[in-house]
Amino acid sequence: MINVQQLSHEFRIGQKAKERIVPVLHNITLQVRKGEIVAIVGKSGSGKSTLLNLISGYIKPVSGKIHIDGTDVTSFKEGEWSDFRLNHLGFIFQSFQLIPSMTSFENVQLPLVLKGVDEKLRMKQTEEILARVGLSEYGGHYPGELSGGQQQRVSIARALIVNPPLILADEPTGSLDSDNEKELLSFIQKLNQDDGITFLIITHDEEVAQIAHRKIEIVDGHLNEGRSFYEVQR
Ligand code: ADP
Ligand code: MG
Repeated sequence: MINVQQLSHEFRIGQKAKERIVPVLHNITLQVRKGEIVAIVGKSGSGKSTLLNLISGYIKPVSGKIHIDGTDVTSFKEGEWSDFRLNHLGFIFQSFQLIPSMTSFENVQLPLVLKGVDEKLRMKQTEEILARVGLSEYGGHYPGELSGGQQQRVSIARALIVNPPLILADEPTGSLDSDNEKELLSFIQKLNQDDGITFLIITHDEEVAQIAHRKIEIVDGHLNEGRSFYEVQR
């Protein structure tokens, strides 16, 4: 599902003579198979979010290749990414990234609006997905009127609405209390088992890593394969 080959990245900070190059990822090679839940773990600052941003096309790598579902996304031109995301990827973030001026319903249906799906179908699908995350009664609420756990469910509904084969999550439990965290993790397992959705989850939370089939550690921008690549019993 994801094939990352010799991916490296660095950030340039400062201007001209004072410019400094900060290497962040070094020669990362990793594969995520269809149907897997893979956790990327590592200390703060180790490069986890950068890796996810590269895989989601928000930043371009300095070198290396990324294939998603067979497509070489590193060779995408302007504009190709947004279409690809709308058809292949769901995102879940620690900070939910909901649009505060839109209701739950509007947030969830947004990807369908962007895809140009007609209104009737949009309404039907949005209602179905909201029901699936247990928020049928909350379609008219704004994010500010919902608890953290409910906001995260809205964001999951928004991720699910495009029927993505792959969901990328950056610290999805980072703002949740332990009950909501348990609920989210069992929902992720259910989506994986019932719908075959592949998950790549960035986390420094051991509980999250527990539901993963495989855990990969990043240490200072290097994949720590020797010791930390191991299979967790399904
Ligand atoms: P993690 O998610 O594992 O905490 P990040 O990928 O966010 O780590 O960051 C890895 C390193 O890259 C850190 O040293 C961070 O300061 C640096 N970094 C991240 N984003 C940028 C940026 N846009 N510009 C400059 N440096 C960055
Ligand atoms: Mg991060």
